[in-house]
Amino acid sequence: MELEQNNGEITDFEQVAVKSLADVKIAKLENKSKLRLKEERKSWRIEDSEELYRIRGWGEPYFSINALGHVTVSPQGERGGSLDLYELVKALEKRNLGLPLLIRFSDILEDRIERLNACFAKAIARYNYPGVYRGVFPVKCNQHRHLVENLVRFGQPFQFGLEAGSKPELMIALATLKTPGSLLICNGYKDKEYIETAMLAQRLGQTPIIVIEQLEEVQMAIAASRKLGIEPVLGVRAKLTCKGIGQWASTTGERAKFGLSIPEMIRAVDELREAGMLNCLQLLHFHIGSQISSISVIKDAIREASQIYVELVKLGAAMKYLDVGGGLAVDYDGSKTNFHASKNYNMQNYANDIVAEVKEACEERNVPAPTLISESGRAIASHQSVLVFDVLSTSEVCTGALPSVSESDHLILRNLWETYQSINAENFQEAYHDAIQFKDEAISLFNFGYLSITERAKAEQLYWACCEKIQNLVRQQNYIPDDLKDLENIMASIYYVNLSVFQSAPDTWAINQLFPIMPIHRLDEPPTQRATLADLTCDSDGKIDKFIDKLKVKPVLELHPFKRGERYYLGMFLAGAYQEIMGSLHNLFGHTNVVHIKLTPKGYQIEHVVRGDTMKEVLSYVQYDSEDLVESIRKQTEQALQEKRITLEESQLLLQNYERSLQRYTYLSAN
Ligand SMILES: *Cc1c(COP(=O)(O)O)cnc(C)c1O
Repeated sequence: MELEQNNGEITDFEQVAVKSLADVKIAKLENKSKLRLKEERKSWRIEDSEELYRIRGWGEPYFSINALGHVTVSPQGERGGSLDLYELVKALEKRNLGLPLLIRFSDILEDRIERLNACFAKAIARYNYPGVYRGVFPVKCNQHRHLVENLVRFGQPFQFGLEAGSKPELMIALATLKTPGSLLICNGYKDKEYIETAMLAQRLGQTPIIVIEQLEEVQMAIAASRKLGIEPVLGVRAKLTCKGIGQWASTTGERAKFGLSIPEMIRAVDELREAGMLNCLQLLHFHIGSQISSISVIKDAIREASQIYVELVKLGAAMKYLDVGGGLAVDYDGSKTNFHASKNYNMQNYANDIVAEVKEACEERNVPAPTLISESGRAIASHQSVLVFDVLSTSEVCTGALPSVSESDHLILRNLWETYQSINAENFQEAYHDAIQFKDEAISLFNFGYLSITERAKAEQLYWACCEKIQNLVRQQNYIPDDLKDLENIMASIYYVNLSVFQSAPDTWAINQLFPIMPIHRLDEPPTQRATLADLTCDSDGKIDKFIDKLKVKPVLELHPFKRGERYYLGMFLAGAYQEIMGSLHNLFGHTNVVHIKLTPKGYQIEHVVRGDTMKEVLSYVQYDSEDLVESIRKQTEQALQEKRITLEESQLLLQNYERSLQRYTYLSAN
């Protein structure tokens, strides 16, 4: 075996394996790939991480990687300074803000609002549009007080308003929106109280617009108007026939849940005319769903809506506003395509198309151009929040040293061993099937009592060793046979993360939504592991095994080897819309800690801290009184003490732990 002797890299185990000439070849190959790995480590650059995690695609201009290999946040885009996210998390942890931690960057929120308004202003100038843009934020996207209050404040220069989709959201909007002239769009199902409250808001100097979503609401609005002597501003929501796309395609079309069909709209117009209130009808609204990834779908919808708008004018309504709803998408995978996790247009294209289409339709029919309204939620709220969580431990399929197999071992073990030895660049596909067959046989033998549990363990270890060896060969191929495509998934490590998917990223579970996830440090090291993420819940659905990739979804994420005793932090990005409020208390993991960060000339400032739920709090949501719980433990301890089953010290420790836990965060703590 002179071939290998001058190479100190070879392991004991491989020396055993080197038997035939074919084996020598394999050993050489393996050493080569080890050397390559070493080379890679040296030559892995920040740019490689940028490309791998596609951070430029989805992160610009807010997220990037610095020379230390840490993710940095530039909350004001290209216009302002930046923060090292890793250092920020470290500093926040020192302030006792444990992970998982949701960090909100108020400057990003401000930047999003400015951008959206700037895009519409530019489009209006470009097309000489004889009207204005007045955006609103749909509160349902993220109702948290600090966020909505900031949003209203940042929106003041643009008279940015709010959209409410329910009674509780109306309560928020009414109390929070104080910008003169900004709109308060009242959507959703309404009852008498909703309609009357919205109308009365006019008396406060607000500009509520009540959007009729159901035919019954017309008579309710007429009655409320008569009763209060208030002339409301009304809108109608149209059910467009144009096709939606993706997850929310069913939001449109004749059978959509919301809005009036054209015959219903005509009836609404007739009823309002009869009541002498047609002059109140001033707005046309539509919403074709969220995350519309294709610009052509948006264009089709605007075209249809513009025609309905001009027709309503012709019917005698005092039309003034056209509300194009939400749908402006977020490029989660950074591919700039019409893939569901992306979008094939930018904000400027979106504004241009709306402005141009509406202008054309109105000019053709000699109708004054409406004030344009959009209700972008996702596009405004997604980028501002980053969820940082850490890895608790990992699990690999291939662990421990390779077992030795001798002539006296069971035939099935010898077969697996021989398969292992024979694997080479020519036969790995065949060897893979052999390995699977032998492993299955081993399990059958075990089930019928012919194989001991230690023998079964050996068989499984040999099987995984085969898979690993084959995987290394597969990775060097340009073409991967179909039957080996799953190997990466089967071999993936599991990284256990301090997080509940159901609380913090419910859409990954409910609708397979993709969010960019990546380490926030060590980005100057090659991520040699391929992993799926498993959360803290004891639900097998509590996992993330779909990750962004170029034009497809990948089942594993490249991560760095987890080192015991060293923290490893991951970030989930663009999850500021919908996730927080739709999160649930599965396994009683509560709301996470939230911190609001604002950039200052010297660094940053913590604007608000919202502590996550304590155990006492989540237990109270399910009607447990923590005093009662403590009392129950106290009684049991007392009994045990009397029966001398527990010492006084033990009983004190137990009670102390129990009481202290109730005041604590529901997630695992690092120390
Ligand atoms: C959900 C919703 C929105 C927000 O949609 P995004 O795609 O998040 O911008 C806007 N308007 C209505 C009526 C909605 O239901």
